Amino acid sequence: MAAPRLAPIRLAIVGFGKIARDQHVAAIAATPGIELAAIASRNAELEGVAHFTTLEELLSQAPEIEAVALCTPPQVRQAQALAALRAGKHVLLEKPPGATVSEIAPLIAASRLTGKTLYATWHSRHAPAVEPARAFLAGCDIRSVRIDWKEDVRVWHPGQGWIWEPGGLGVFDPGINALSILTRIMPRPVFLTRADLAFPSNRAAPIAANLDFTDETGVLIRAEFDFRQTGDQTWDIRVETSKGTLTLSSGGAKLFHDGQPMVDEVEAEYPALYQRFVELVGQGASDVDLTPLVHVADAFMIGRRDVVEPFDD
Ligand code: NAP
Repeated sequence: MAAPRLAPIRLAIVGFGKIARDQHVAAIAATPGIELAAIASRNAELEGVAHFTTLEELLSQAPEIEAVALCTPPQVRQAQALAALRAGKHVLLEKPPGATVSEIAPLIAASRLTGKTLYATWHSRHAPAVEPARAFLAGCDIRSVRIDWKEDVRVWHPGQGWIWEPGGLGVFDPGINALSILTRIMPRPVFLTRADLAFPSNRAAPIAANLDFTDETGVLIRAEFDFRQTGDQTWDIRVETSKGTLTLSSGGAKLFHDGQPMVDEVEAEYPALYQRFVELVGQGASDVDLTPLVHVADAFMIGRRDVVEPFDD
């Protein structure tokens, strides 16, 4: 057990893109026990915060930095995480934890060797409906699950070329958030039985995916992910149970039981995520659950592939 800390953890954000700006900066500021001490960015600076162009520069010039939050695309994160752990930093990984499943093993080994925290985050698991849904489902029979995770890629991922490259996951970039919730709320492990993936003819990652899962009881779990949704956006999970219908909507911000609200809270996923990081560092512990990524890898393994019309930003 690590000794209690007196000073906040000095953290650097690496990769100052959409999620770093939209969520990380404010969440760090709102979390006791941690402070934003630097950013490593090729393109951006943040007033009042030390700046380094690359992670390598930061690691060689800023020994006072104790932790890094890697907000870069998954294809470049493994090398960054390994370098940071080897330099004695705690590491927070944005989701998904990697571009492959196996690349995480050396990170786990490095964190054990150095005694530094490795935290593979799943921000959607901190949505307010998730733990109440998990508790509800522990006490009833589940008959079916239906996931609709449909959003407009042009709105949410403008100009993010990496998402369409191998390892970028395409529609699984948001879809894996649904899988992170599913794997948290279900009382038994689920496994994939079928996947249908739609690849734009000019892209290396799917724009849509239909997935069937089941569990040892034979329950049917259907997930539909689509990046081509215009108008209303849909991030819903509906579970038919022996005690009625449980619906998580708005990405897990709201929970309904037979249409009656059980939870309706303002989303605060990232402050909860940083609170967990501070706890892990304080405990000298790590938290790495690869289950959602395993399901995505399975979908690429057994998925039937359709080629659909080209996608242009
Ligand atoms: P983004 O806007 O493209 O930002 C990623 C940043 O990483 C870039 O701005 C760039 O930062 C750096 N970067 C890009 N390519 C790089 C490369 N080849 N080598 C080194 N650095 C590179 O992407 P994002 O939306 O923030 O997503 C980043 C991660 O967060 C993804 O894994 C995504 O799944 C996750 N995430 C995103 C959202 C969302 O709503 N966008 C939500 C939750 C989680 P610099 O210019 O500063 O170097």
